[in-house]
Amino acid sequence: MSIVKANAIVLHSKKQGETSKIVTLYTREFGKLTTMAKGSRGVRSKYLGVLETFNYIDIVFYKKEGRGIQYLSQASIIEPFQNIHTVLGKMTLASIPCEIIHRGEEDSHSHPKVFTLLLDTIRALEQNDKNLRNIVRTFLMRYLTFAGFEPSLDACHSCGRTEAGDRSYFSLLHGFYNCDKCGPGENNITLSGQAMTYLRWFMKAQVADAATIAVNASVGKQCDDFLYSYIQTQIETLVSLRSIEHLQNLQLQLAGPEH
Ligand SMILES: [Zn+2]
Repeated sequence: MSIVKANAIVLHSKKQGETSKIVTLYTREFGKLTTMAKGSRGVRSKYLGVLETFNYIDIVFYKKEGRGIQYLSQASIIEPFQNIHTVLGKMTLASIPCEIIHRGEEDSHSHPKVFTLLLDTIRALEQNDKNLRNIVRTFLMRYLTFAGFEPSLDACHSCGRTEAGDRSYFSLLHGFYNCDKCGPGENNITLSGQAMTYLRWFMKAQVADAATIAVNASVGKQCDDFLYSYIQTQIETLVSLRSIEHLQNLQLQLAGPEH
């Protein structure tokens, strides 16, 4: 057993016994970790306010290989993300990347690029006030790419034509599309030319810049339907996502032209 430090984002926590919590963290150094925070629920706890979901924290823990739960020794806040905790819509949106990392990543499998993506996504949601859904859309595109499921949106799979045309038929199973001339295949989702243009933009954007463009509601909905259906088809641990169902049920009235 060794004592090690890490940078972490709090993904999830649940009560354990009378006074403790089991906290799932995503760390830069060790990937996803399940940790026990003893005595973390008392008002005089050294962890008070530190182990809240979305917080970016420094941790020290007792690392034992092969153990399912690691024991936290210390934790302190690096960035608390106040706005995400106080603005309902922001919290709902930030829950999506956190749930995807929580469910999609394996334990103790370090992937620093995914860590940076998650941190940048939460930071962008904290700092921006409109077009927030574009931040989540860009996160989803980049996460799909890192996970090896990058959709092929550059050109029609059948004829190679790159212009999007009025509509495209994207195959959720195969991850590529046919243009309107080549026609629909199986298990496809239809995308308008505008939706294709924005999806291509999200693929190349950085999450920090994603809120700089506005997308109208119907095109935004097509982009979301595409991203959610595709991620749920391709990644079996993400077949049903509570955070996305919650968002759809809430029908959020966030600021910005698309809502
Ligand atoms: Zn074609």
